[in-house]
Amino acid sequence: MLKRLVIATGNAGKLREIRALLEPLKIEVLPQSDFNVPEAAEPYCTFIENALVKARHASKLTGLPALADDSGICVDALGGAPGVISALYAGDNPRSDAANNAKLLADLKSIKNRAAHYHCVMVLVRHADDPQPLIAEGSWHGEILEAPRGEGGFGYDPLFLDVKLGKTGAELAPEVKNKVSHRGQALAALLQKLS
Ligand code: IMP
Repeated sequence: MLKRLVIATGNAGKLREIRALLEPLKIEVLPQSDFNVPEAAEPYCTFIENALVKARHASKLTGLPALADDSGICVDALGGAPGVISALYAGDNPRSDAANNAKLLADLKSIKNRAAHYHCVMVLVRHADDPQPLIAEGSWHGEILEAPRGEGGFGYDPLFLDVKLGKTGAELAPEVKNKVSHRGQALAALLQKLS
């Protein structure tokens, strides 16, 4: 039984959502910042490799089981970009959701096909050398708007429209986003495997 779990992220938006999703379980959820774990390098071109490297890194430095989320937004008309570099799409100095969103809007200027999806890979390692990490994925399909809407969520949420619900990620109540999102789906699948 898992009693304590490190969340291998420094992203406050992800942490908030993962915490809410894990709340019903009696697991002590600790951000890696509690242990001064620095951000892991994410050199790979797939979500799964980056998620694995982050989970191992946090587990190694804390001695605890670790859960990592690697995620991003993939836009059809951009050949799947920004994908794994979503957090750094507009650069790293400084990293900024506003700059990323502005770049996405500029790149899609006068492009009609606005289809996009978020993708999330969750990895849970019981220890740093775990040969059988638990891995689960989720995708959330929608469209990129021409102007932001809403105040909630984080990252690209103000531009990402869930067409069925008629709301952006930033307009959805947090508990609704967690039900339909790539992260919510991935974590639900991971917990199913865990049980
Ligand atoms: P990572 O930390 O390398 O996994 O990068 C994740 C990045 O993808 C975030 O910084 C956001 O830019 C984007 N992203 C992932 N999930 C979401 C989400 O739920 N809403 C908005 N942006 C997201």
